Amino acid sequence: MAKFTLSGPIADLVEQVTSGQVSATQLVQTALDRIAETEDYHAILELNRYALADAQAVDARVAAGEKLPLAGIPFAAKDNFLTLGTHTTAASHILETFTAPYEGPAIARLKAAGAVLVAKTNQDAFGHGGSTENSDFGPTKNAHDPSRVPGGSSGGSTTAVALGQVCFAIGTDTGGSIRQPSSLSGVVGLKVTYGLVPRTGVIAMASSTDTIGPMTNSVADAGMVLDVLAGRDASDATSIERNAGSYRIEADTLADDLDGVKIGLIKEYLGEGLDAEVKAKLLAFVDSLKSRGATVETVSIPATERALAAYYILVPAEISSNLARYDGIRYGHSAAAAANLEETYFMSRDQGFGAEAKRRIMIGTYVLSSGYYDAYYKRAQKVRTKLVEEFDDAFAKYDYLVGPAAPTAAFPLGSKSGDPLAMYLEDVMTVAVSLVGAPAVVVPFASVGDGLPVGLQIIGRQKLEGALLQVAAAVELAAAAGGQK
Ligand code: GLN
Repeated sequence: MAKFTLSGPIADLVEQVTSGQVSATQLVQTALDRIAETEDYHAILELNRYALADAQAVDARVAAGEKLPLAGIPFAAKDNFLTLGTHTTAASHILETFTAPYEGPAIARLKAAGAVLVAKTNQDAFGHGGSTENSDFGPTKNAHDPSRVPGGSSGGSTTAVALGQVCFAIGTDTGGSIRQPSSLSGVVGLKVTYGLVPRTGVIAMASSTDTIGPMTNSVADAGMVLDVLAGRDASDATSIERNAGSYRIEADTLADDLDGVKIGLIKEYLGEGLDAEVKAKLLAFVDSLKSRGATVETVSIPATERALAAYYILVPAEISSNLARYDGIRYGHSAAAAANLEETYFMSRDQGFGAEAKRRIMIGTYVLSSGYYDAYYKRAQKVRTKLVEEFDDAFAKYDYLVGPAAPTAAFPLGSKSGDPLAMYLEDVMTVAVSLVGAPAVVVPFASVGDGLPVGLQIIGRQKLEGALLQVAAAVELAAAAGGQK
């Protein structure tokens, strides 16, 4: 039997399944065994009990001669993706017993491509957080140091990938929830242009910045998954057409240099709050990209100083509206002791939502209320417009903008969970990109302290994911070579 690990390039595994050297069933069994072995990390909320049956169905399709781009590849989905055959909880008590009535295009496309859903992963409830400690079902541990957080909110997904429980995971990034945990967990994470992957079938957090993307072991793997996920679907009016051509990185198109690539290093991300060792390693690595032909200059995006404040007005405003549907009647938890309609609303929401969801509902309701709307929501929208203009200006001069994805490497479990503001500061390097709708990829490039990974965030122009991934692959090669060429 062929040897494989789930961390190997997805393209190789697909090739092995397609040529019959290994079966989808074997790959999925390997995933299930690995999940059982590493259960203590609590990356997984629920296994898909149909995973082996689904794998057998893929084996039958392969045997019948179907060419499947992700044949037999085991994957996990963040628990805010509606999936048939499992619960879909978004890691919140209010949805603890919820089972979805349908699946959206992201899951459907992956399954049609031959990928097999093995498990649902842990997250900060509804995506609210940066450590996965806001899960109502207990935190996930970091794959590199179980006393630390994996980042969040897609921390279950990044731990699952980093441990080799699955070949890839899909998650959501509304303000950094793919990028920040990818940096803290040492995996590749791709946040797409707003709309490139249809959001139907994903539990809404903030509809104007919610995006779907993969977390993988390599940039090439991210390209393979994106190639299946991308493109408009009629069910999501905000979804956009994919570009012509493939998002895959073929060996013959991969450049190992960065000749002529103009990189702007975002000045505002290098200031106060950035860990000294992360900063030193990042500056050295970015500087080393010059030896591969890139030009690197510092660029200022002044409105990024206001981005976090704007994000924590705009996003809670949308959250307060999106979470209004959990009323104890239509979905999820319903308070048994409620005596009338009003009590059903109050008690179900009080019992079902965790502290962070309640905090955001209150902030969101406040900033939208009459008399405060102009002072908060409207001003935050102006910051958003300013950010769009400043990113446009920067992209007129540079092909890519880079910076850290988080101020520090993985921090100890419990060290920030009692301090919402400290947790919000985790997002300071990711939220601007979400507000402008640009794509960005995080590529691990170094480790700090006792072997904690750190990723470089590379931000591209809207809709140019193909080129972004090519450059990210060259950066990944540079990181593997230790920088200098
Ligand atoms: N950490 C950010 C927040 O708590 C981002 C969340 C996300 O992208 N889902 O809002």
